[in-house]
Amino acid sequence: MDPEEIARLVNEMKLSRSDPKEIVNLEEAEIRIEEERLSRCLVAKVLLSKAINRDAFRQQLPRILQAERRMNIEATGDNTFVFEFYSIRDRNRALNEGPWNFSRNLLICKEPTGLNNPRSMLFEEINIWVQLHNIPLAFLQKDLLMKLGRQIGQIVELDRGENGAFLGRFARIRVRINITKQLRKCLRISAMRDEEDTIILLVYERLPDFCYACGRLGHSCRECDDEDADKVNHSFGVWMRASSHAGGGRSNRGSGVKHDETKNAVPTQDESGQTKLTGLD
Ligand SMILES: [Zn+2]
Repeated sequence: MDPEEIARLVNEMKLSRSDPKEIVNLEEAEIRIEEERLSRCLVAKVLLSKAINRDAFRQQLPRILQAERRMNIEATGDNTFVFEFYSIRDRNRALNEGPWNFSRNLLICKEPTGLNNPRSMLFEEINIWVQLHNIPLAFLQKDLLMKLGRQIGQIVELDRGENGAFLGRFARIRVRINITKQLRKCLRISAMRDEEDTIILLVYERLPDFCYACGRLGHSCRECDDEDADKVNHSFGVWMRASSHAGGGRSNRGSGVKHDETKNAVPTQDESGQTKLTGLD
């Protein structure tokens, strides 16, 4: 049966009063979760308002995720899938090294959470490398980069750069962001002794298609229903998409400072765009 058909019938029966109300109670001990198998699975969703071509998805996905061994892909509806990997390395890469794109649409992978139905899982956050361009040399130090990174999202990792001293044409910070919110375009910095604010441009690596009118992922400008968004003079642009994954000759792996604030942090984002830095020489 088609997953959409199953979802429709389940909803109908939830609402129906004519169906029997007997509930089968399951004790926790009776529920045998195959933990080993579950640990090899991820739940994934393609963020697109219309249904994707599932055959093309199944065919292209192992290449997109750079899977070295085979994987099973089961559709659960609404562009949502369960992936079963036969290699933990493949599974961990899919989970940790995104964001991934299918036909330039965002594909979010998450760990399944116990008994949760994949349909009821929320796909609202991703980890993404953000490049900070036009950043003054004086800002290229760990504490200040942490402060700037927190304005974008929860910090997952800092890229120290090739020489380990954060120096480079731009800074790189991996952050967890909420994709239901507008992407930040810049950070406006007011540093002591500077007469003018410094604007740091934010460029995202592996950024899928997004709406240049409202700055959100998952729809195009034509489909945008944000009444406040300027559909003619777009405030956002293709410049926010990095041309390479780890530009400036920086590595995507191994050189970073792991600083995962996402474990128990409460998501916060300062929408004011203003960061005050004091004590800079
Ligand atoms: Zn929009």
